[in-house]
Amino acid sequence: MAMKLLRRLRFSSPRLRGEVPAKQGMGGNSRFGSSFENLPPSTSASLQPLPPASGEKSILTIFAMAALMASAPVSSQTSTPQTPSIACSGMAQQGGLIVCRTEPNAKVKIARGEDDFYFENADDNGVLFVGFDRDESDNFVEYAGERVSFDLSPRDYDTSKIDGLPSNMVNEYTEEELKRIRAATARKKIGFASRQEEIGFKDGFIYPIQADYIKTTNFGAQRILNGVPKRPHYGVDLAAPKGTPIVAPADGIVSMADEDMYFEGSLLLIDHGQGLISYYLHMEDIVVEDGQHVKQGEQVATVGTKGRSTGPHLCWRLKWRNRNLDPELLTEWPSES
Ligand SMILES: [Zn+2]
Repeated sequence: MAMKLLRRLRFSSPRLRGEVPAKQGMGGNSRFGSSFENLPPSTSASLQPLPPASGEKSILTIFAMAALMASAPVSSQTSTPQTPSIACSGMAQQGGLIVCRTEPNAKVKIARGEDDFYFENADDNGVLFVGFDRDESDNFVEYAGERVSFDLSPRDYDTSKIDGLPSNMVNEYTEEELKRIRAATARKKIGFASRQEEIGFKDGFIYPIQADYIKTTNFGAQRILNGVPKRPHYGVDLAAPKGTPIVAPADGIVSMADEDMYFEGSLLLIDHGQGLISYYLHMEDIVVEDGQHVKQGEQVATVGTKGRSTGPHLCWRLKWRNRNLDPELLTEWPSES
């Protein structure tokens, strides 16, 4: 049994590696059953390099093992495995999102390194979202001494170089325009500060355009103008005729519906819970209101080309707190069957 388990761990998905301390034992998953396909639940910190297969165990080792076994409780450990205090599933990659299940209101450590971490609280049901930014590297979450680690390998983002541009491309705004820009920025800040308790995101996204569209820009694409890398594009652009219906990618609550944005033209924010916020830009019409509950697939707007846009399209974006995620990734959410 142990060998079988070890083999499974060694060949587990490279995308998402779980680590829990040895104390959890090899009993494996319990509460979450087979629902965490991508997360071998009992990957253990004790599983460092496998022992050599030669069988050359020293007498000392055997003594140590015997002592350990003797001191272990006699109770039926294997038949009642301990529940991990935290387990996560989802898309553990750059721009992705995972959903962790832990104890209600658990204060979970979210870390990019041993010295770079902060804490977020799980909700009343022990659910916590964690998102990964475009260029984030290895990461882990930790609660009650148990750690789940993620290998975030670099993704290959689109880049395009445009050289020979006139050097003076600085935008100049009138006082009036600046006033509008500042006011819009302030409203946006409020919309993005939304933190709905209710979890609307359950099992992935659907595409916001269910009719025909052409994807013109991927998440993370970057332009290099005259050799200077510009801010990456944090959305997915879907071109479709003006007036094409746009739907909500998942359940949520509208935290901003604004058709007077300077750059975005129109801007719609849908909070799916815990600051996981979908947002849409450049729409012709928004047909929902601030504070409204929306269901996955419900129409919320129509395609347009308002604001800084060169043609009818939807710029589809996603934030988790202050991190920019790739909304399209979440259309491939692993099923928890
Ligand atoms: Zn865009």
